[in-house]
Amino acid sequence: MRPTPIDTSPPISDEVKETTCYMCACRCGIRVHLREGALRYIEGNPNHPVNRGVLCAKGAAGIMKQHSPAKLKKPLKRVGERGCGDFVEIEWEEALGIATAWLGRIRETDPKKLAFFTGRDQSQALTGWWATQFGTPNYAAHGGFCSVNMAAAGLYTMGGSFWEFGEPDWDQTRYFMMFGVAEDHASNPIKIGLGKVKANGAKFVSVNPVRTGYSAIADEWVGIRPGTDGLLVFSLIRELLLADQVDFDYLARYTNAGWLVIQDDGAADDGLFVRDEAGNPQCWDKTLGGLGPALDKNANPALIEARTLPDGRRAVPAFDLMARRFLDPAYAPEAVADRTGVAAETIRRLAAELAQAAFQEEIKIDQPWTDFAGREHDHIIGRPVSFHAMRGISAHSNGFHTCRALHVLQAVLGSIDCPGGWRYRPPYPKAAPPAVLPTGPVANPGDPLAGPPLGFPRSPEDLLVDDVGTPQRIDKAFSWEAPLAAHGMMHMLIRNAWAGDPYPIDTLFMFMANMSWNSSMNTTETMRMLTDKDPDTGEYKIPHIIYSDAFDSEMVAYADLVLPDTTYLERWDCISLLDRPISEINGPADSIRQPVLTPDRDVRPFQDVLLDIGTRLGLPGMVDEQGDALYPGGLPDYMLKHERKPGVGMLAGWRGADGAAKGVGAPNAEQLDRYIENGCFWTDSIPIEGVYYRNVNQAYRAYGEAMGFLDTPDPVIVQLYSEVLQKFRLAAQGHGSVQPPVTERDRVARYFDPLPMWYMPFEEEAVDREAYPLHALTQRPMVMYHAWDSQNAWQRQILGSNRLYIARSLAARLNISDDDWVWVSSEKGRIRGQARLMDGVNPDTIWTWNAIGKRRGTWGLDADAHEATRGFLLNHLIGDVLPNEAHANADPVTGQAAWYDLRVRVEKAASSDAEESWPQFDPLPSNAVRGAPAVLRYGAEFREGS
Ligand code: SF4
Repeated sequence: MRPTPIDTSPPISDEVKETTCYMCACRCGIRVHLREGALRYIEGNPNHPVNRGVLCAKGAAGIMKQHSPAKLKKPLKRVGERGCGDFVEIEWEEALGIATAWLGRIRETDPKKLAFFTGRDQSQALTGWWATQFGTPNYAAHGGFCSVNMAAAGLYTMGGSFWEFGEPDWDQTRYFMMFGVAEDHASNPIKIGLGKVKANGAKFVSVNPVRTGYSAIADEWVGIRPGTDGLLVFSLIRELLLADQVDFDYLARYTNAGWLVIQDDGAADDGLFVRDEAGNPQCWDKTLGGLGPALDKNANPALIEARTLPDGRRAVPAFDLMARRFLDPAYAPEAVADRTGVAAETIRRLAAELAQAAFQEEIKIDQPWTDFAGREHDHIIGRPVSFHAMRGISAHSNGFHTCRALHVLQAVLGSIDCPGGWRYRPPYPKAAPPAVLPTGPVANPGDPLAGPPLGFPRSPEDLLVDDVGTPQRIDKAFSWEAPLAAHGMMHMLIRNAWAGDPYPIDTLFMFMANMSWNSSMNTTETMRMLTDKDPDTGEYKIPHIIYSDAFDSEMVAYADLVLPDTTYLERWDCISLLDRPISEINGPADSIRQPVLTPDRDVRPFQDVLLDIGTRLGLPGMVDEQGDALYPGGLPDYMLKHERKPGVGMLAGWRGADGAAKGVGAPNAEQLDRYIENGCFWTDSIPIEGVYYRNVNQAYRAYGEAMGFLDTPDPVIVQLYSEVLQKFRLAAQGHGSVQPPVTERDRVARYFDPLPMWYMPFEEEAVDREAYPLHALTQRPMVMYHAWDSQNAWQRQILGSNRLYIARSLAARLNISDDDWVWVSSEKGRIRGQARLMDGVNPDTIWTWNAIGKRRGTWGLDADAHEATRGFLLNHLIGDVLPNEAHANADPVTGQAAWYDLRVRVEKAASSDAEESWPQFDPLPSNAVRGAPAVLRYGAEFREGS
């Protein structure tokens, strides 16, 4: 008898819509299967350039995000005391009326009294523009507390960086070294890339205090001590220099290694480059036997030896200074081994392996190209060594210089944007730094800002400070506190707003930023600041708080007005080249989200609401001369019509009236249709002769200019020696028209070193290291990205509470066993959590998963959910200011929040201590108010016969 055939692929849906995932920032293409309009299944889009069909666990769990009971349902107005979670539901008209009234008053009187900050959103091209049109400089997204050190160090050094700015040449690299990357970041692209590295037999080395996630499949794990990555990189560079394993041709042509640096102690131009009258940098040209233009086609710069200038002063090539710095015996492998926790012989071997891959496994591609100076090359050289780094090296107070050192290492190996090396992703590289300056407050209320709020200062004159050095932004970004704070300093926002320092604000308007919980340092104190009142007036010190989010996070209770957002499956979005694009190394790309589901609640997309408020306020660029909305259809209308400059809009594909143009072209009314037909993305290919060495490649520079994402065809010369930093140091030494206050001079002079440097992280330096002998870290797990994910019914089944991970050797010394309750103490306070012992962690380091711990009553979870009773945050232990309270707990150059400088001690809890995480806070009533089912079910309706 023949068996009854089984249908192994029954139809699961009656409709499939393509859009873009937003369960993390990778923005993979997805196909959403619907049955009778209901969400049935999500799969990866095999045609999409980011993920080629791969879908991770997070992406699949988008279904349960859509079904989350924590979704906000309607606008809310606070009726009880702030922080108690007492709200009434109101209609949108009333909500928008309240917001418009508050913001309208501010705009008419003092626009900087609006602080508009967003979290891990992906719409900064819109939100930053909106702040500009409103006229407030007090705008930023979450970059300042994430990885601005990494971004700024790269952008100031080579016009690009890791993450969205570039990625390894996964296909051709022979040696891949990854520093401090949590597994939630660049999730699918890295996993796909690591698969290629492994399949190709290339070596993968992970430098990370913790061996989880990507590190778990590394060929070699280097369990470094937190905050010492810079020392390791210094030592690697030293070894390469000593062994003469350096690409001198690359350094001479495409970096400023040969540019002469004036050596004239005390002079106003000490440490600046020797330039001709037109400002062109000069080298000591070995062919000419004298000074010559460093960027000339025939330049033959000397890289070492002091020279005498025509005025009798000395000048030294930047490389000479750099080599002296790195050759210091303080960076010998033996000298750094104890401090880094990496054996001297390991450092030597790693350096030798880097050199072997770069120089002995050189790739040669017979592809002619022409460099910026007009030199024609008949082939391309590849040095197949690549690097990637993220928050792990960035979130330290010494992170900027560590990241810069890593880029110098890339340059020494000649491995920037070459075959097998680390590669730029368009629209990068931009100028180093990008030619955008931050803009300060407006002189006349009602005017828009003259430029964007965020940018890249090139000299002290570009800072946002007044005549006596007082910061002009509420977060003190671009002040002497953090001059190169390119992404703002969101982590200082609430403290400064509470203190009225440098001035009081009126309204805090935040989107998707859980600042009363896992997105703040010093969380307990932050909650107090959000609710603190002026004893004289009885008014809150931060008078108004507007908050928008899709979910009932801990921050909702601290708002006066809540504007509920949609989920990512219910709205349009724009992943633009003007923002944080999804480009691949061989060509630019952008994408959209389209709504695939209709909201079943009274919620609106935040971007639409923002444009609506802007229209009600009559903001320039949002209304016409009659005051009518320019974008009445909200974000999709804006995506189609808005032009940032003539012909350049939010989307680069299918531009022009007929849709035939790319990059630059008139708006096209059918553009979104074309995107949808193409799977919601657009890509383009760089001309073959412009694919490599794009910072100095004529063909690429011309392509980028024609596409509208490069303003000039000028080359981006790698800045080993940073004249920008030296200008700030000179100001601190008393030169120039804009100088730091006396109290800041030593700090600026020390940390604005034009060459990479290493110093002990501030907290480690300041605390009693015997009392707090351990480093403490957090990271997000591979299955979760936002705090949003630890309320997701599927994701929380994988990780429902976090543990404190401790090396077995350390645990034995402390008499701690698996599952014991332990106290963790820092100078700021104590927390209690449960221990888990492991092998793959640096023995001086403890760590945990971040943002698993929830406050009781939030996120639609049961009040006794493990996330609340066993989950915990390290945030309570981390200071937002340094122990001396004089500065933010941040990098002194960029203001990057120093999350990972934390020092702690661990003790076993007493048997009489409660077996519950601590601290606990009053439960919020939102769960009871808005209700959540005891058991969350999905899919029963799709069963056959149901
Ligand atoms: S990697 Fe990120 S964007 Fe891609 S499927 Fe997973 S969650 Fe979605």
